[in-house]
Amino acid sequence: MLDVLIGTSNPGKRGEFAELLTGLPLRLLTLGDVGLADMNVEEDGGTLEANSLLKVRAYSAASGKLTLADDTGLYVDALGGEPGIYPARYGGSGLTMPQRRQKLLTALTDTADALRTARFVCVIALAGPPLPEPLTVRGVCEGRIGTQEDSTGRTGFGYDPLFIPQGYAEAFASLSAEEKNRISHRGLAAAQMRAVLQKLVSS
Ligand code: IMP
Repeated sequence: MLDVLIGTSNPGKRGEFAELLTGLPLRLLTLGDVGLADMNVEEDGGTLEANSLLKVRAYSAASGKLTLADDTGLYVDALGGEPGIYPARYGGSGLTMPQRRQKLLTALTDTADALRTARFVCVIALAGPPLPEPLTVRGVCEGRIGTQEDSTGRTGFGYDPLFIPQGYAEAFASLSAEEKNRISHRGLAAAQMRAVLQKLVSS
């Protein structure tokens, strides 16, 4: 069993990683498990790759553990690529996630369906022993921003009630967790990371 620290305080992401890495001989640790629940890493790298590497380098240095973390961007074409690499800050500081989603809907009020295209990009980084050098993998999910919140199924998290993946009529929040993980940015990146982890545990 290899210990892997999941470097995120976002319970939605943590739950997805637990499902995405299931079946591998790993013991997944949370930041709380290693006494780092209050450790904040400044995400000022300027790219998803740089930000995810900042997180894994800091958490693995502080814990001594092999550490995995992601950084996710949301790019809305009609808004010139906003919110970009900082969707958690969209609309300014102090907003709740429902307020950020409302802000996005309002920004797109006059945007026709066909022009509401967007993509989620997820970069997952891995660093720490026994990996000799940090590495990153990237997954992209194309889709569009709906005209209203859609969360008839489960709740999802973040922008899940607004993001409708390409080829679907419902938003991420209305898909099962399995279906979202099969097609999502994080799911596609995690599939590559599974292969890396598989190699590490069998070497
Ligand atoms: P970060 O990667 O921790 O910087 O988070 C980026 C932002 O995007 C957060 O506000 C998340 O809620 C949101 N986000 C990240 N991944 C997803 C997802 O899979 N679905 C919906 N929102 C997400």
